[in-house]
Amino acid sequence: MPDILDTEIKFLSGVGPKRSELLKKELGIETFRDLLYYFPYKYIDRTKFYKISELDPGLPHVQIRGVITGFRTEGGGRNKRLTASFRDETGIIKLVWFKGLKWIIDSYKPNKEYIVFGRPGIFNETINIVHPEIEDPLNLENRISSNIQAHYSTTEKLKNNYISSKTLNKLMGNLFGQVKTGIKDSMPAWMRERYRLMNLHDALFTCHFPNDKKDLEKARFRLKFEELFYIQLSLLSIKKKRSNKFRGHVFSVVGQYFNDFYSNNLPFALTSAQKRVMKEIRKDLGSGRQMNRLLQGDVGSGKTLVALMSMLIAIDNGYQACIMAPTEILSGQHYNTITQFLENLGIDICLLTGSTKKSERERIAGGLSDGSIKIIIGTHALIEDTVNFNSLGLVVIDEQHRFGVAQRARLWKKDKQPPHVLVMTATPIPRTLAMTLYGDLDVSIIDELPPGRKPVRTIHFTDSDRLRLFGFMKKQIKDGRQVYIVYPLIKESEKMDYKDLEEGVEAISRAFPSPEFAVSVVHGKMRPAEKEKSMKLFTSGQANILIATTVIEVGVDVPNASVMIIESSERFGLSQLHQLRGRVGRGAKQSYCVLMSSNKLSNEARKRIEIMTGSNDGFEIAEADLQLRGPGDLGGTQQSGIGFDLRIANLGKDGQILEYARRIADDILDDDPFLESENNFILKEELKKIKKTEYDWSKIS
Ligand code: ADP
Ligand code: MG
Repeated sequence: MPDILDTEIKFLSGVGPKRSELLKKELGIETFRDLLYYFPYKYIDRTKFYKISELDPGLPHVQIRGVITGFRTEGGGRNKRLTASFRDETGIIKLVWFKGLKWIIDSYKPNKEYIVFGRPGIFNETINIVHPEIEDPLNLENRISSNIQAHYSTTEKLKNNYISSKTLNKLMGNLFGQVKTGIKDSMPAWMRERYRLMNLHDALFTCHFPNDKKDLEKARFRLKFEELFYIQLSLLSIKKKRSNKFRGHVFSVVGQYFNDFYSNNLPFALTSAQKRVMKEIRKDLGSGRQMNRLLQGDVGSGKTLVALMSMLIAIDNGYQACIMAPTEILSGQHYNTITQFLENLGIDICLLTGSTKKSERERIAGGLSDGSIKIIIGTHALIEDTVNFNSLGLVVIDEQHRFGVAQRARLWKKDKQPPHVLVMTATPIPRTLAMTLYGDLDVSIIDELPPGRKPVRTIHFTDSDRLRLFGFMKKQIKDGRQVYIVYPLIKESEKMDYKDLEEGVEAISRAFPSPEFAVSVVHGKMRPAEKEKSMKLFTSGQANILIATTVIEVGVDVPNASVMIIESSERFGLSQLHQLRGRVGRGAKQSYCVLMSSNKLSNEARKRIEIMTGSNDGFEIAEADLQLRGPGDLGGTQQSGIGFDLRIANLGKDGQILEYARRIADDILDDDPFLESENNFILKEELKKIKKTEYDWSKIS
């Protein structure tokens, strides 16, 4: 039987072909279900009426009851507007419209009672409400619910076509009228009972037409729970299937390579966090099951070293290992670091990226398939079909956020017996987000920085401080330090950004002329070879200053660099800022991060800068980021698509529900790993649907 919720939206009464096109285009609503799951972004208590004498411009949305005493057209041209005087027994305010003037005059009659709803403002010392919602009190009585009003976000285009929040709510009412009892519950009855969850029909209805706050809370809980529960069920079932299905290579010994490295090449002692994490990894590697582990740790906490030692264990057991990084620069950096660390150990290490020459490629292909190349480092090029390993035992994925679950899965299709997988994230992520993005992985955390690091000092400067900044830079350079200057580069304003960068380069070159100073520039428009050359100038210490767009965001390691200047820092997200700051403070000297910004800052930008100047703790910053921006935008604009569609739950706020849902999902799978019991039929069906469509994991990468 077809599900009535799959009905196309154009068949809903009140939605013709034109509206259905608009709904599809503007809000992605194509079916009854899509509309039903288009949740309000806020609720307004409609039981409270204000008196006009009580209004002041500080109030949020208010509701007043009174009469329109007359309309007037004021101003001309672009300023042309319609105003109405609106009166109750305590005073008069002005209602103002800039658009749809004729429609307003036709729709509302003077000297008739209306309910007006909107945000009070002030103009010429008179209180006004711009583009108020107006309702006939008679309609109000007929509305399905009137106590708490749901508000939906709409777009300019929808509004211009008379599809307002109110219209959407009305359509929602039509929808419930049409589907009647046709909404099938997507949670098994036993779960609803045991966990006291409202049934789906009631939960959805209450969400759109709440009558009191308590019911609304219960309804929202049910829907959030369900949403988070199915994600967890899906991830945990992947995890369990994998550990049942895939036997892992058993790395039973720690041998020559590891021991040689440890006693001859390791220049410092491991931190206790690194030791603990190594233990966790070794346990996995010896267990006979495939390792799928996430390694979290703040920038500079020494994740690379942990990866390196894990690879040595793989080699000791006769296997090959690889590291995959998202960019050529990063791959190159890893290659250099690892080659240095493994000097004189006689291990053949190779680098494979998009710009590797054909002859080298062929040599590498040969070495990988005959097993003589033990370690290979590279970009996506590594997962191309032409790459064949002799015995790949361990894959390390660095700066993971760009590889999704699906891409990870591709890695272990190559072999019958999949390699162990260690994923390293570039920055710490909050627990809730980790459980959702990497919920199929086990987690290890390095929560300690190597000793002797001085915390980076973070300063906020505006343009008027630029001379001081230059003075400071000169002093640092005289002391032998190096300086990064980073410019934002955001797709939408790419042209402007390059202009900013070019002007910046010019100004710096003037203030820091050669031959006294050497300035190097790296940006995305350069060819790989050029980039490499500029980077080398800096990493080798020849250049004092590196000016760059965010290409250096991840991973570059130049311990002698002690100053990170971030231009237009208000345009970066918190995790990006933290990531950039992590490029300095790697040597023994005091390091600095200078956040440049204009004088005018939005509240949110100010908050971000305050958080940055106040904390060096990556986990704390990630948490603040999640609270401030929500998960949809984590990691900065480049990856704003990171959020899969969470329609109602919020990873910043619903952490407890998430933990609860994950625990329950885990228990269910413990008892019934393949969801074969009659009781869990619905769960199995829902899971199938999710796998087919719902979570577009590829977006994460
Ligand atoms: P991450 O990848 O976690 O950002 P890295 O692995 O690049 O950090 O390590 C940052 C720097 O710290 C590197 O120069 C590395 O050699 C050094 N390092 C790593 N572990 C230690 C340690 N236990 N003691 C001292 N220095 C360390
Ligand atoms: Mg790193």
